[in-house]
Amino acid sequence: MLLTITTTHSPATDLGFLLHKNPDRVHEMDLSFGRAVMFYPEANENRTTFAMLLDIDPVALVRGKNKTSQGLFDQYVSDRPYVASSFLSVAIAKSLRNALGGTSKERQGLADTPIPLTARVLPVPVRGDEDLVARLFEPLGYDLVSEPIALDDKLSYLGESWDQSPYVALSLSGTVRLRDLLSHIYVLIPVLDKRKHYFVDRHELEKLIKKGESWLGAHPEKELIANRYLRFKRSWAREVLMRLAIEDIIEEEAAESQATQSETPDPVEPPKDAAEAELERPIRLHELRLDTVAQKLQELGARRVVDLGCGSGKLLKRLLAERMFKEVVGIDVSTASLENAARRLRLENLPEQQKGRIKLLQGALTYRDRRIEGFDAAALVEVIEHLDADRLAALERAVFEFAQPEHVIITTPNREYNAKFEGMEPGQLRHADHRFEWTRKEFARWAVPVAERFGYGVEISGIGEQDPTCGAPSQMAVFSRV
Ligand code: SAH
Repeated sequence: MLLTITTTHSPATDLGFLLHKNPDRVHEMDLSFGRAVMFYPEANENRTTFAMLLDIDPVALVRGKNKTSQGLFDQYVSDRPYVASSFLSVAIAKSLRNALGGTSKERQGLADTPIPLTARVLPVPVRGDEDLVARLFEPLGYDLVSEPIALDDKLSYLGESWDQSPYVALSLSGTVRLRDLLSHIYVLIPVLDKRKHYFVDRHELEKLIKKGESWLGAHPEKELIANRYLRFKRSWAREVLMRLAIEDIIEEEAAESQATQSETPDPVEPPKDAAEAELERPIRLHELRLDTVAQKLQELGARRVVDLGCGSGKLLKRLLAERMFKEVVGIDVSTASLENAARRLRLENLPEQQKGRIKLLQGALTYRDRRIEGFDAAALVEVIEHLDADRLAALERAVFEFAQPEHVIITTPNREYNAKFEGMEPGQLRHADHRFEWTRKEFARWAVPVAERFGYGVEISGIGEQDPTCGAPSQMAVFSRV
């Protein structure tokens, strides 16, 4: 079983830093089921390839601790020793732990950057429809080559028919962060295979959430992926999808309201009647929030705006419709969200002049990113509450210390108002992916010191109708450099 990863991003030998494996040496790692041997068949400035050869011990499989699952190893003859399967995922997690986690001691910037990468994995057992491979990998932005591998004598024992070999050599190419490539392989190879060499417990559910965090929630085949990954424990799959769903419930309401609109208005020239109709419809909170932010950006006189955590591009669409915004950049960690944004903005059909005003970038907000420096204003609409408390400090630095826009607009839910939502348990958050929701006091206690620390002034206000005790449903802080 072989996995290779090639990059042409110069100097390509930096791949060694990303994988924490020196290209000049052969690396070996003992695993409970065999051994991983890692080396670089080529390593030069222009092109470097890393290879992991997985040597699975068939005898250890039968005797060892891996004997737990579904009678897979009740015989010596099994395809497991020869194919890329959940063993590969375990090998990646154990041997390439830092790379999978997205950290690099020597090249953190590069680890956070999408670079041209090609992975080859073989042989991969594919059990399902013919187009399964494409359905799983293409939405993630890969160019795909899947070549069938004819069965040899060993594999034909397994009752697979000769003319329908389930095995393919898979090649995935794209401009992605290494951690994303690895997490895609980690999750999706066992999904293609439908089998697991170990018992699936709740631990697996947490693993899937962690590995799928940045992409699974927006994947069109997320149900299939979660179901197969969790060996068809459907309630767990549902739980994963709920916790992963990136946009909050209010967001979904907004989408529904949009679906009822007969035609999406042209993003460049919103017809006035559509806007009127919008007014007459009961105000939806997320729409109100986006309108408020767009309005505020106009009042501030911003010309160049970056939307941090732009999601599916709803704010970008509003900004593009106003000529005063000369340059609009959306950045998000999720490729799937960016694709939705490109669709919503109809990027492909925009006239050249409009195309020049908008750019979508993939990136993480918790690292310094020179592409977001020097803007008049940055917006973070319903983003901060998706970050773990310890990552929030990193975001503060990335935005206020490094990117340093003239103005920063941040919105976040007001937790006090949750009491007004029907059917919400006390203490429950609006969305399962929210790491926190702040009261008005908590938001101020965060925003004011942040402003002071980085040389900004801040004004906080509510969005939506004020309730006398709970305040407004949403809150907004507008920071301006002093
Ligand atoms: N601003 C959008 C989307 C809000 S949902 C709107 O109001 O409609 C939160 C968004 O933040 C998601 O698209 C998610 O992918 C993105 N996000 C969360 N953490 C991020 C991070 N660390 N870096 C970049 N984007 C992030």
